[in-house]
Amino acid sequence: MFNISESDIIEQDETWGGFENEGQPQVRIVRNQADPTMIVDGVDGISVTCESTNRFYVEYWGYLAGGLWVTRDGVGELKQNLLDDQDDIPGWSLSTDLDELPDWFPAPENPPSPVTCTECGSEVSGTKIVTPYSGELQDRYCPECWVSVRDDF
Ligand SMILES: [Zn+2]
Repeated sequence: MFNISESDIIEQDETWGGFENEGQPQVRIVRNQADPTMIVDGVDGISVTCESTNRFYVEYWGYLAGGLWVTRDGVGELKQNLLDDQDDIPGWSLSTDLDELPDWFPAPENPPSPVTCTECGSEVSGTKIVTPYSGELQDRYCPECWVSVRDDF
């Protein structure tokens, strides 16, 4: 799951039946769906909760949902696999209510840089840009411009 090494997966949560650790400090990683015309299956979001120094609960939801326990190294692999990619429009982004990342969650190496809207030229976060599929050109819209052009798609 999420390309975490077998040796860093402690166990699968076979009895998962819904959100387990709501209300506890957790780091969330959410899928960045930049193309609204594309239907994505798989996982939309992941949360990581610390249970002890080397035991973390990873919960995921979307088309697929469930949970598993991983080691601290497993948390590092999860971060590396999902958040360290170099694309200017990231596939996943951090989403957390915490003021700062807890010390058990490693900071992403390449925080996404702003992306320029092809319509108005403003710079917006790579997690807010909209890139609808339109043949060969891939236009990039900020949320405001997207609202005004979306009916053309
Ligand atoms: Zn714009």
